[in-house]
Amino acid sequence: MKTERELLNYIHGQWRPSSADQYLNVTNPATGQILARVPLSPAAEVDEAARHAAAAFEVWRRTPPTERVQYLFRLKNLLEENSLDLARIITSECGKTVAESLGELRRAIENVEMACGIPSLMQGTNVEDVAGGIDEHLFRQPVGVVAAITPFNFPGMVPLWFLPCAIACGNCFILKPSEKVPLTVVRLFELMEQTGLPPGVVQLVHGEKETVNAILDHPVIRAISFVGSTPVARYVYARATAAGKRAQCQGGARNPVIVMPDADLDVTAKIVAESAFGCAGQRCLASSTALIVGEARRSFTEAITHGAAALRVGNGMEEGVQMGPVITAQSKARIESLIALGRQEGARVLVDGSGKSVERHPNGCFVFPTVLDSVDPRSEIARTEVFGPVLSLMYVATIDDAIAEVNRAPYGNMACLFTGSGSAARNFRYRANAGNIGINVGVAAPMAFFPFSGWKESFFGDLHAQGRHAVEFYTETKVVVERWP
Ligand code: NAD
Repeated sequence: MKTERELLNYIHGQWRPSSADQYLNVTNPATGQILARVPLSPAAEVDEAARHAAAAFEVWRRTPPTERVQYLFRLKNLLEENSLDLARIITSECGKTVAESLGELRRAIENVEMACGIPSLMQGTNVEDVAGGIDEHLFRQPVGVVAAITPFNFPGMVPLWFLPCAIACGNCFILKPSEKVPLTVVRLFELMEQTGLPPGVVQLVHGEKETVNAILDHPVIRAISFVGSTPVARYVYARATAAGKRAQCQGGARNPVIVMPDADLDVTAKIVAESAFGCAGQRCLASSTALIVGEARRSFTEAITHGAAALRVGNGMEEGVQMGPVITAQSKARIESLIALGRQEGARVLVDGSGKSVERHPNGCFVFPTVLDSVDPRSEIARTEVFGPVLSLMYVATIDDAIAEVNRAPYGNMACLFTGSGSAARNFRYRANAGNIGINVGVAAPMAFFPFSGWKESFFGDLHAQGRHAVEFYTETKVVVERWP
């Protein structure tokens, strides 16, 4: 009988078996094949990781930033050399196509590149003679031991939103990856091991809820970065901050795009289809509502319906496949029940992706692209995060009506506008209540040197991931007032 590989934690520079009494299967969502078993690590293993990280911190924070980034330069090269291998691991456990996995890794590597600039980025400021003969300096010091808890949909990129900047700033880092997709991170840590990072600087502890609670409650861990669904983000933020930690918690989304009649509607439909159905709709920056203004209705609706129906769905590992499966059978069932809810609430189903399968992969979790038409903005389907390949179409008379809908939504991760008008674009950019704005762009993902700026129910905290916010999040400011008589 074949025994699946049981994954190890990485603590103090060693791969160690967990003492967990519970393991979960890691499953390829396209084929149903069990790839490995992931331990639900107990609190004692979080404690071990935290204690080793705290010991390593004493040396790591004294290591000059110019030396700290040498490990990241090595990591960047290793990631480039191993991109295809990593992409195939992402595809096998997460389902997206290999091209999408490679795209994800490109964004991940950008975060390593940005952290390599830390000797400049973490500089402080100073002013001479704030009073006679007195100088004032602001230094940035690392926070200490920090941790990140990450979701399933970007197994390679989201951990690297945090890890490179955290360690470049002089912190020691603990990662609890998604239990659904831990294999990418295992490979990432194998590559990190090859950089020669000192033991204790980065640690990997597998698990789910109980492991997260142990991280949130641990007195040595000073800062928490979280990415996942809104209810868990809210919970993690409340528990971490109640324990006196700083926290940045990115939550769920339901992103609207506005389509104006003066946009190039064929091109817009292609971009919106890629945004709604790319990665099987499992991107926190997927478009899930199209607010179609006035005369854009006929051409856009026709083009998007055609685009959705034409997409080739299958195993993301195979050549020519444009959209892979959703993450689990439970996820497929949940998305299909939301499509049914949309129908009950009065939407017309223009393209129905439920109840479908892929011939060569009968055990795959496939939901095909789905387009719901004339969705009532007040219905449940219009306000729920579907996190699958389902696009809802709504019709409005003016851009002001559309912006009002954008601003009524509980989430504020992203909002996009498609138009040929500069003044409409400015009006929208100025008034839309969302943190990431796209103008004629369907996935407005900030590059690594800008913060990933979700608002409202999409974010709990103040300093976001990436860019200058990340440097601020991972450093304490210390002001020194100095006189030498
Ligand atoms: P999830 O909330 O189920 O899990 C995220 C992490 O939290 C995982 O590591 C998981 O083990 C842990 N977790 C789950 N339930 C927990 C609980 N009750 N207590 C403590 N920890 C718990 O999210 P997911 O399904 O892995 O990812 C999809 C979600 O992530 C979507 O809602 C998506 O919008 C969101 N997301 C947001 C962003 C963003 O930048 N805002 C980016 C990517 C994904």
